[in-house]
Amino acid sequence: MTGTSDCLAIGIDLGTTYSCVAVWQNNRIEVIPNEQGNRTTPSCVAFTGTQRLIGDAAKNQVARNPTNTVFDAKRLIGRRYSDANVLSDMKVWPFKIVEGNNGKPMIEVAYKGVMKQFSAEETSSMVLSKMKEIADTYLNDNVTSAVITVPAYFDDLQRQATKDAATVAGLDVLRLLNEPTAAAMAYGLDHMSKISGARNVVIFDLGGGTFDVSLVTINEGNFEVKGVGGDTHLGGEDFDNRMVDHFVVEFNRKEKKNISKIPKALARLRVACERAKRILSSTTFTPIEIECLYDGVDFSGKITRAKFEELNMSFFNKCMEIVQECLEDAKWEKKMVDEVVLVGGSTRIPKVQQMLQEFFEGKKLCKTINPDEAVAYGAAVFAAKISGQGNQMVQELTLSDVTPLSLGISGPGDVMRVMIPKNTPIPVMKERVGTTGVDYQTAIRVRVYQGERSKATDNIYLGEFNLQIPAAPRGDTKAKLCFKIDFNGLLEVSAEELITGQKETIKITNGKRSLSNEEIDKMLNDAKKFKVEDQNYRKKVEAYNDLEYYIYRTKETMIHDSVRKRLNPKDLSKMDDLVEGAMVWLEMYKLADIDVITEKKKKLECVFNVTIGQFM
Ligand code: ADP
Ligand code: MG
Repeated sequence: MTGTSDCLAIGIDLGTTYSCVAVWQNNRIEVIPNEQGNRTTPSCVAFTGTQRLIGDAAKNQVARNPTNTVFDAKRLIGRRYSDANVLSDMKVWPFKIVEGNNGKPMIEVAYKGVMKQFSAEETSSMVLSKMKEIADTYLNDNVTSAVITVPAYFDDLQRQATKDAATVAGLDVLRLLNEPTAAAMAYGLDHMSKISGARNVVIFDLGGGTFDVSLVTINEGNFEVKGVGGDTHLGGEDFDNRMVDHFVVEFNRKEKKNISKIPKALARLRVACERAKRILSSTTFTPIEIECLYDGVDFSGKITRAKFEELNMSFFNKCMEIVQECLEDAKWEKKMVDEVVLVGGSTRIPKVQQMLQEFFEGKKLCKTINPDEAVAYGAAVFAAKISGQGNQMVQELTLSDVTPLSLGISGPGDVMRVMIPKNTPIPVMKERVGTTGVDYQTAIRVRVYQGERSKATDNIYLGEFNLQIPAAPRGDTKAKLCFKIDFNGLLEVSAEELITGQKETIKITNGKRSLSNEEIDKMLNDAKKFKVEDQNYRKKVEAYNDLEYYIYRTKETMIHDSVRKRLNPKDLSKMDDLVEGAMVWLEMYKLADIDVITEKKKKLECVFNVTIGQFM
C-alpha cells in the first residue's frame, strides 16, 4: 500500500560540518546527491567580491577566503554572544563575530565589497535552501515540506532557531526530529526482518560539532526513546582544533613564526589537520606538508595516531562519561543493551570505537548503517510517514521521544522548580496551581529555565513574562501555571489567574532571544534577494563563458591555412585585429554586466558571420 499524498516531503540532516538530504521514492529511501555527485554537502557558506557560494563550492575556496567563509553556524544557533562556548569558538574561527541586538551573535563578512552581518539562523537557512535546491533538482519539483533533524541535546532556543532558519529557507517543518532518533529509525528499518521482540539500542552519534547518545527500545515498528544525553559542543571540529593548536606551537618553536592570529595560515592548517585526522583512522602515522604556510616558510610536520589520541583523550573520556550518565538516568544496566550503533563521521576514530567497546565489556559495535547518511535516512522515513507516503511498514511506524533537559521556573531564592523533568516522553503537558507569596502583589513574574542545576540562573534562561493579578492578601490569589511541550520538543508556557481568568502565554519563541515575525519576514525577503542575485551571477558567468568559447573557437578557425588563404588580405588583417581585441576585452571585462557581455557577442557575431561564418 502506498500513501495518497502526491507532494513529496524530504528529510534533511542539518549537520555542523555536513548536511544530507533524502527522500522516500520508488518504495525506498534515496539519499540525494548534490551537483558534484556527493551525498553529503558541507554546511558552509562563502561570500566573495562577486557572489555567494554554498556547499562544496564554498568549502573548496576556504583557504583563499578564510574571513568570509562561514562554517559551524550550528554552534552559534540559539546562543548568546556572551555564551562561554561562543567566546571560545570565536578565538579559532577565521570569520568575525560581533554582538548584535539583544546579545545575539552576528557573523560579519564582506559580500561584494560591502560589510554585512548575518545571524546563525540566516546562514543556516542558506545551507537549508541549498539542500532544498538539491532535492528540487533531483525530484524536478518544488519541495516545500521537510523533517529536519536537530541534536537530541538541543535546548528550546536552539530548536526554535533551527525552525526559524527553515522558514527563511522556504520550508515548512513537518517535524523537528532528534538526530539519534532518526538514526535509530534507519537502523530499525534496516534490521526489521532480523529483529524479533524488543531490542534495547544505544545510538552513539559523534559528528563534527555535537555529541548525542540516545537509548531507544525498538519493538517491531515502535521506537521508544528512553533517555538522551549529550553535549552540543563536542565533536570532530574540537579534535581538529587541538591538532591545530599543537602545530601552531610547533611552528612557532621551529620557525619562530607565530601564526595564531593569521586567518589564512590557520585556515590552511585546519584543512590539513582535518585530512590528517581522517588518515589516522586507517594508519598510525601521517606527515603533513603545507607549502608557504606563512611568510614564505613551508610547514612540514608529522603526527602519530598515539599523539592524536593523547591530544583528544579528555574529549573521548567525556563521551564515555556522558554514556554512563545517560544509562544511569534511564536506569539501564550495561547488560540490558542489545546493540550499540555508531553514527556520525567521528565514530570512525579507532580510539573512540575501542573505548566504547571496552565500556560495553567487549560488545561488538554495530557499523552496518552508514554513519554519514543514517540521520537523513531516518528523517526521510519520518517525512514519508507524516506526509502519508511510504509503504505499509513506514505508515505503521510509531515514535515516542523525550525531552532532553528539565524545564522549570525560578522559585524563591533562585531555586529551580522543575515542572517537566528530563527524559519525560513528549508531547506532554504539566500544570501546577500556586498562590501568591507577598501581601497585595499585583503581578506574578514567571521566569523559565532549562537544565539540571538546582540554582535556576545556572541553567539556560528561556524567557519570562508577568501575569497581572488583582491585589489581595498573601495566599488569596491562585494562579495556574502550564508547561506544554509539543512533538518538536518546543515549549509553550502559560499562566492563568484563577479568579478573574487573567491569562498570559509565552511561546518561548516570542522570547527576546529568538526571532520576531518582522525579523523572519526581513530575512525571507533577503533570502529571495540573494537567490535572485545568485541566479543572475550564474547567468552572467554562463554568458561570459559562452562568449569566451566563441572567441576561442573563432581564433582556432583563423589559425587554419585553408581559411587564411581564402580571405582577402584586408579581411584577414581585420579579423586578426578583431580576435586579438576580443581576447583583450575578455581580460578587461571579466566583471561586466550580462547585457554588456551579450551585446559584445552579438556585435562579434555580426562581423564574424559575414567574414568567416562559412568556415566555423
Ligand atoms: P555533523 O553531523 O556534525 O556535520 P558528521 O557526522 O557529518 O558531522 O561528521 C563530520 C565529522 O566527522 C568531521 O569532523 C570529520 O572530520 C569527521 N570524520 C569524517 N571521517 C572521519 C574519519 N575517517 N576519521 C575521523 N574523523 C572523521
Ligand atoms: Mg550529524
